[in-house]
Amino acid sequence: MKCILCQSLSIRLICPSCDKKITLSPKKRKTFDDFVVYSFFNYQDIEYLLRSKYSLIGSRIYKILARKAFLYFIDEVGSTFDSLNIFSIGIDDRVKKYYSHCGVIIKEFDSIFYPLFGVLVSNNDICYAGKTLAYRESNKKDFIYTGKRNIDVVLFDDIITTGLSIKEAREVLQKNGVNVLFALTLSDARNI
Ligand SMILES: [Zn+2]
Repeated sequence: MKCILCQSLSIRLICPSCDKKITLSPKKRKTFDDFVVYSFFNYQDIEYLLRSKYSLIGSRIYKILARKAFLYFIDEVGSTFDSLNIFSIGIDDRVKKYYSHCGVIIKEFDSIFYPLFGVLVSNNDICYAGKTLAYRESNKKDFIYTGKRNIDVVLFDDIITTGLSIKEAREVLQKNGVNVLFALTLSDARNI
């Protein structure tokens, strides 16, 4: 088979030389209430990869990006989270066109955060991509939480833009007795 990026022969989806070019740019963003969101890649650096999101191959690309993010994260935090019994929840973790984007990501972090798959889903099909802040503010995602209560959680998403989804998700979790520690996203798209 061929590398999807450079078309050279490769047994992997992305060949080792293209893989090396996918560089990490870790960022920390403080949002509402000083809630901290960490991201791993510049949006511009992986935009071409994120475009595969709604294709069949997207789940494999998301897995590659999430794996890189995880390896960086574990390298930074070491054994900080060992035996703390922290859970992970993906924002709107449900299958949309072939797979769940957040499901793929929390799976890659499952050796440190226990994944609660599909427990936080939007009650409507509003898509924020390309929409204005005003539109986002007046069209809430209306999340429904069906997971455990009284737990510590790390929230996951693929992209943070305005931070409104994370804000709304966190509020719903808090109302359900969940303590949200911080959020991890693959990419921060604020400056585009
Ligand atoms: Zn390649």
